[in-house]
Amino acid sequence: MATRRDLLKAGMAAALGSAALSRQASAASEGATPAGKPLIIDSHVHVFERNPAYPFGSATTFPTFVPPTVDATPETLLALMKANDVARTVLIQHICYKWDNSYLADVLKRYPAHFKGVCRVNPEDPAAPDHLSMWVQEKGFNGVRISPFEDARFDWIRGPLMPPLWQRCQALKVPMTVLTDHSRLQDVMRLVEKFPDLTVVIDHMADIRPDHPEQLAALLAFARYPKVFVKISHMWSISDQPYPYRDSQDQVKRLLDAFGARRLMWGTDHPVSLPNLPYEKSVALFRDQLSFLSEADRQQILGKTVQEVWPFGLTG
Ligand SMILES: [Zn+2]
Repeated sequence: MATRRDLLKAGMAAALGSAALSRQASAASEGATPAGKPLIIDSHVHVFERNPAYPFGSATTFPTFVPPTVDATPETLLALMKANDVARTVLIQHICYKWDNSYLADVLKRYPAHFKGVCRVNPEDPAAPDHLSMWVQEKGFNGVRISPFEDARFDWIRGPLMPPLWQRCQALKVPMTVLTDHSRLQDVMRLVEKFPDLTVVIDHMADIRPDHPEQLAALLAFARYPKVFVKISHMWSISDQPYPYRDSQDQVKRLLDAFGARRLMWGTDHPVSLPNLPYEKSVALFRDQLSFLSEADRQQILGKTVQEVWPFGLTG
């Protein structure tokens, strides 16, 4: 099974497909929700492009990371959104830019109605809280993402620089987004307990695979903290089965039972997801499959939960 790092690399290669699509891209989609259709807001997409004005970081916390050789532009994305009735998208700073969120800041400035953005700051820099304040207050970001993984290089998640960063997040009233796996859930939980009023979003079900119920139990334990939300994205990467990933669906159902639809949100993770799922199929997975969802739960997961965390101000 591919590791997350493999998937990141593969996502770069597969973004070729979206580069081709960008040639057909029309102007930005202007509408919100088509009449009679559910409001759909994607909680997780990346944009990047090879442009000397926005150099890629030379080294990242992902040692096998290679810089993108293709582009994933906001214009490509807007065309895909329009074609699939996705009204809005939350853009997540891509690791290729490391801690420099300038490219995404400029995208947000260019398309303020369509996107909200989550920045990254260096969790080992004591100035990270001030950097976060700058990105939020001056550049329009709505939140930050940290990525603690298992090995010792990520021990900062237990260190003295985390509480000030989480504190700042709370003061700025923006969500803390966490990309992690089961190995760091206990560390994350200690911070959640310290900051019960802070909205925390755990990405991609912590990439827990459906054949690891003991790991899932560690994620389900977060249900007792009312401000913790979970993205049910990465159904494709955690599954051992073909589309529509029945094993992952069972896991989503467990999360639904524990968290309720009000704290679950969908997301494509486009273009990282491209080797497995074209954008339209990624949308269809959450919109048309998941037959255990009531219509109200489906609408909640497709659009309403995202707006509780990132309020775009849309009704539907
Ligand atoms: Zn992603």
